[in-house]
Order: sequence, then C-alpha cells, then structure tokens
Amino acid sequence: MTIKRRKFIQQSVAGTAMASTGLWACQPATNDEIPAAVVPQSSGTMPLVIATWDNFEATQAAAKVLEKGGSALDAVEAGARVPEADPNDLSVGLGGLPDIKGVVTLDACIMDDLGNAGAVCFLQGIKHPISVARKVMEQTSHVMLSGQGALEFALEQGFVEENLLTVSSKKHWEEWLKDQKPFGETNFENHDTIGILALDAQGNISGACTTSGMAFKLHGRVGDSPIIGAGMYVDNEVGGACATGVGEYVMKTLGSFLIVELMRQGKSPQEACEEAIKRIVKRQPKLYREYEVGYLAINKSGVYGAYGTEKGFEYTLYQDGENNKYPAEHFLKS
Ligand code: ASP
Repeated sequence: MTIKRRKFIQQSVAGTAMASTGLWACQPATNDEIPAAVVPQSSGTMPLVIATWDNFEATQAAAKVLEKGGSALDAVEAGARVPEADPNDLSVGLGGLPDIKGVVTLDACIMDDLGNAGAVCFLQGIKHPISVARKVMEQTSHVMLSGQGALEFALEQGFVEENLLTVSSKKHWEEWLKDQKPFGETNFENHDTIGILALDAQGNISGACTTSGMAFKLHGRVGDSPIIGAGMYVDNEVGGACATGVGEYVMKTLGSFLIVELMRQGKSPQEACEEAIKRIVKRQPKLYREYEVGYLAINKSGVYGAYGTEKGFEYTLYQDGENNKYPAEHFLKS
C-alpha cells in the first residue's frame, strides 16, 4: 500500500511550502477566540437516527448499533449499507438505475464527529460505496476519490467488484431508451438518496449519504450526494444535515452546510431546513416546482427537522425506542 508514503510526501511538501511563504509566522487564533455555536435548548432525546424516505430497515440497523452503545459513525454506515445491498431499491447501490449509457455509477459520503470526511463519486462495480467512502476517510489523507481511481482503491481495500445492473434496472433503462424523456420527467421512481444522520448516547453526531444519482443522467454526471456540505454535512458542535432530490439545486446552494450554519446561528433544525428550501425557491423560482428537494437536520440536543419543496417527501425516525415513517412539511402547499 503506497498511501502511507504518499501521505508523508504530501505533508512534507505542504510543510515546506508553508514555511517558505512565511505562513507559519502568523499566530493562529486560539479556540477561545472562535465564537461558540448557539445550540438551542430543547426537549429532544438521544440516541436518535433519522433517514430520508421510507428507510425503516436502515434506521433499524443504525439503531441496533446505537442501542449496543456503538458510535454514530458505525450506526450511519450500518444504516446506509441496507439499501445499498437491496436490489429492489432503484436509487441506491446494487440495482440502482443506470445512466444514459446503461452504467450504474454511485456517489457517497460520510462524516464523523471529529469533522473527518470521506467520499467517492462515479464509482462503478462496488455495492457499498459508503464503506469505500469511510476507507477514504480513514486510510488516506484525501477526502474524495472518483471513478477508476476509486474502484482501484476499493479493490486494494478488499472490496469485491460485481455487476450492479440488475435485470429489473436494465429493463427500466431499456424502456426509457424507447422514448428518452428528458432528465427528471419519468413517472416511476427515478431518483432518491438515502441520507442518514445519527446522534449517539455520547452525544456525538455522524452522517452518511449514498445514491446511484438521477436515473439516466449523462455519463459522468456527479450529484450532490458525495459533496461534503451539499449532500450531507456534520459539525459535532452544532448538528448535521442531509439532502435528497435534484442534486444540482442542492449543490448550487450548498444546502447541508447552509443548514448547519443556520443552526449554529441559533435556528432550530426545522427552521434551518425551511430556510434552505426557501433559498432554492429564491434561486430557482420556476424550476423548483418541477424538481423535488428534501432536507433533514438534527442538532446536539436530539431535535430534528424535515422539509421539502413539495408534498411527498418523507423520512424515517428512530427515537425513544420507536422507529416510524413520517411525512415532511413542504413549501408548495398544493
Ligand atoms: N441527490 C441525488 C442526486 O442528485 C438524487 C436524489 O436524491 O434523488 O444525485
């Protein structure tokens, strides 16, 4: 494995560059000078797991980790792996709908309570991109690997390459090829992401996000889901947020980062999700009606929020020992 050596070289080069530009001559600010986050007191409880859409088995798998005293990081990875392995889930991992060329390409990211992050995008042939993203976070000095490089890294790490295009997802693609409706205009479920956030019994937050992206997208398209701050973001001082829906809108407003920063300023998770959706409405005054986005957020006190552009966005919540699906509030009232 060459990664350790590369890490050393990168650190040395970075160190030399900083020394020669005199950057190290500046005194860093101390932690005391950085303003503390405003985290509202509330009545939420921990542990807590929340996931986009009807992902009951995913939140259950995550809750199982937390109930045994496991970390939020292990919980979100365990949760995300459930739909990734499900061939009947058309928008995540194995069985995900392919791109315009019939190729299944996967995006995922993960963040822990220390602010570490890992991601993969345009990954092909590996069923569990979330676990590859975690390896990127833990085994390299990078945040994101893409395409062939991500695949080679995954294989080095012991992941097994397999065909992710199931008979059913191939059939959907062949149907779509017949009339090639533009991006977003298909009737059946043509996108969705599992974003999952957990708060463990120690009060630490982690998040994960994984998807096969928009169905029949252009070959090479990467959405919001692997982008730290867009598809998902965690700041353990404040809370976490994740997104589902048309990634282009989420990326253009850096939705998950925005939500966490709004919570830092004192907004509740619900208020922060609503404001992030309103930001999309403002930036895309016409298009937001056609293409859905949904956000989830949690804070350090175990309070959560959920909001979508339109009716239909739902989430699964595990809290106080109960695991249930709920409809989210939404901007468009009709
Ligand atoms: N956010 C995903 C993407 O744009 C798709 C989705 O969640 O619907 O790739």
